[in-house]
Amino acid sequence: MELTFHGAAREVTGSCHVVRIGGKTVLLDAGLFQGRRADVRAKNVALPADPGRIDAVVLSHAHIDHAGRLPYLARRGYRGPIFTTHATRDLCGVMLADSAHIQEKDAEFLARRNRAHEDPLYDRRDVDMAMQSMRGIDYGRWTDVTDGLRVQLIDAGHILGSASVVLEWRDGLTTRRLAFSGDIGRTGLSIIRDPVPPQDVDAVIMESTYGNREHPAVEDARERLAATVRETAARGGRILIPAFAVGRTQELIYTFHELVLAGRIPRIPVIIDSPLATEATDVFTRHANLFDMSESFVRQFHADPAGTLGNSLVEFTESAEASKAAMQRRGPVIVIAASGMAESGRILHHLLHGAADPRNTILIVGFQAEHTLGRRIVERRPVIKVFGDEVALRAQVEVLNGYSAHAGHAELVAWLGAVRKTSPRLKHTWLVHGEPDAQDSLASDLNAHGYSASCPSPRDRVVL
Ligand SMILES: [Zn+2]
Ligand SMILES: [Zn+2]
Repeated sequence: MELTFHGAAREVTGSCHVVRIGGKTVLLDAGLFQGRRADVRAKNVALPADPGRIDAVVLSHAHIDHAGRLPYLARRGYRGPIFTTHATRDLCGVMLADSAHIQEKDAEFLARRNRAHEDPLYDRRDVDMAMQSMRGIDYGRWTDVTDGLRVQLIDAGHILGSASVVLEWRDGLTTRRLAFSGDIGRTGLSIIRDPVPPQDVDAVIMESTYGNREHPAVEDARERLAATVRETAARGGRILIPAFAVGRTQELIYTFHELVLAGRIPRIPVIIDSPLATEATDVFTRHANLFDMSESFVRQFHADPAGTLGNSLVEFTESAEASKAAMQRRGPVIVIAASGMAESGRILHHLLHGAADPRNTILIVGFQAEHTLGRRIVERRPVIKVFGDEVALRAQVEVLNGYSAHAGHAELVAWLGAVRKTSPRLKHTWLVHGEPDAQDSLASDLNAHGYSASCPSPRDRVVL
């Protein structure tokens, strides 16, 4: 077997690794590179292999940095199967359609601003084509992907439907296994179950987003969240939360309910201004069988699903008018809108109207990649650019890393430790999906503890 690292190598986005075995080619993920437009366009159009020669794709989860180039693969002629969990397939239906919409809007915007013509990477028809290729499989069930290669998907505990992938093939008389972590979640998150480390593997491809950082405990993050809401509400301000429509938004809805019921925050409206989040919340309720039933609030949800996610505390904006009205709304109010890194979506309108008001708080609850607006807000730049306009950043900025859906440093080390415990033949670990600082620090840490870990660069090739 030959393995080539194509995307998310020495960076976070563009997750894609190419497996070649017995003349067949299989992709692990086909993620979109995100960041500065000028940098990512060329990377996004360069496919890791001729689409006609790709035999299968295995998809770890629905986030765009993992699934976002599937419609582009379809546009370029890929018609083979895409194996993933049922929930990921359903979430992709929602998220890829949204991604196509963003691509089209971006192309229009560019044409207006620069009079430059750039085709969108893909459109709705390409999304439909990609969706037709999706094959939903159950967690734990071994499935043949191509001649001589089978896979098993196990819960990665990151977002609904997220999986770590175990690949298995024969090498002479021995059976060999490679694990691809996908994105590894945290223990103790609301709704989502804890990650399940793969067992009995020979090698691992592992994410390293937070390879050099620990997260505060989930409960500490919850208290800071509550304090932020209390303080902003006392100022009569708005709490603007750029959040991934899928996962983070549903988790926040749960948390705000818990906090209101416990009397830790005042009962103020929570507006979900994101059609995508509204649809994704629907997918969540359809896959409630995957929720973490060890949490009491989730058990309550099961008893009364409509009562919790559709509770009067939360308003889903259903039209563009409702969204505009939400922008004018006087505080205190909480607004959750996509995208998670404030690169696109309705959050931009809220920032345009709200970033200059010192009563407001911009609450950052997720990872912000380099060169994104979200990152510039985290860095508290005095002036930010929204839709090409300069806006003074006078709102408070609160960063809550405790809400990350990614394992922190200690959790990554514990995950790999659990893999090693059941894997006497474990030889090597390749670190992917991290910025160089995080990766180098995690690699040296692992190597000091007897692992063999390295950080491949794009197009690095290894033979297993
Ligand atoms: Zn992810
Ligand atoms: Zn990711």
